[in-house]
Amino acid sequence: MKAAVFFAPNDIRVEDVDKPIAGKDEVLLRVKSVAVCNATDMHFLKGEIPGVVYPLPPGKPGHECCGEVMEVGQNVESLKPGDKVVPGPLYALPCGKCFYCKKGMQELCENPGVADFAYAQFLKVPARFCYPLPKNVSYDEGALIDLLACALHGIYRADVSVGDSVAIIGQGPAGLLLTQLARFAGAESIITCDVVDSRLEKSSKMGSDATVNSAKEDPVKHVLELTDGKGVDVSIDAVGKSVVVRQAVEMVKPRGRTVIFGFHLKPGEIDLSRVFDRELEIRASFRTVGEEDYRKSARLISKGKIDAKSLITHVLPLEEIRRGLGMIEKGLENVIKVVLKP
Ligand SMILES: [Zn+2]
Ligand SMILES: [Zn+2]
Repeated sequence: MKAAVFFAPNDIRVEDVDKPIAGKDEVLLRVKSVAVCNATDMHFLKGEIPGVVYPLPPGKPGHECCGEVMEVGQNVESLKPGDKVVPGPLYALPCGKCFYCKKGMQELCENPGVADFAYAQFLKVPARFCYPLPKNVSYDEGALIDLLACALHGIYRADVSVGDSVAIIGQGPAGLLLTQLARFAGAESIITCDVVDSRLEKSSKMGSDATVNSAKEDPVKHVLELTDGKGVDVSIDAVGKSVVVRQAVEMVKPRGRTVIFGFHLKPGEIDLSRVFDRELEIRASFRTVGEEDYRKSARLISKGKIDAKSLITHVLPLEEIRRGLGMIEKGLENVIKVVLKP
């Protein structure tokens, strides 16, 4: 089968590799669509994740995918060939037995397993980590369910309630989903920030009440102006840069909450005196809890509550993965989500 191999940072090629064989509790999936992750996959592309040894196993780090069941292992009764499913989270299959799994905090599992990854024509995955793709959801939209599941977890961590004011910095794919979810969760006003105007336009269409181009204006000053100097109830970093967390902390009102959703690899600095004398709360949202987040995300797309389709700006064959990664890396104006077809 064909699979993309990350031989080294910036050296990615599509190769012929062995097709996986499903074990007795696993299924073999034909990957129909796999989206490029604008966070994790960029770090793998640039070789920024400490301790990672290249070449990566074939298909890694592709994880935002969906596909069709081709074969099922002898113990599998819940699925049959032809079923359309979303598997995940491929990067950390919760063990189900540790302290955190038992508490329903599977994203913090102490002994996560890994499945095959999805920049490939086929992958094998335990059947219990496959969730049904609703009939009216396309494979390309289905490839965004993993990201929506992460964003859903982010909104739960943010505890947005009816009437809250929310500021979201970063309107890439995750930020745009967070904006839609914040609206859906009952936010009264949403202010979104990004450095790309076309993303801010999309953000307005997806529920943002006011937008700020952080490259042209100071986002903190602007958010304070829009809230009569008070700040917002909740601010979310959907970028993953230290400076953004600092801004998020500075735009929140006393007793407000800042959620770190962006992917951080390095220590950063925030104004602790501000956190202290305003009794601010800082939380993080690290990937998805799994099952319930996936099922709910699939329903939200199926029922038209969340628009995943409009985020997909490019669909390319797997062979063009390097080009797809490059488009996101360069931060091209018209690129939001790139979906690959293996
Ligand atoms: Zn991802
Ligand atoms: Zn566990």
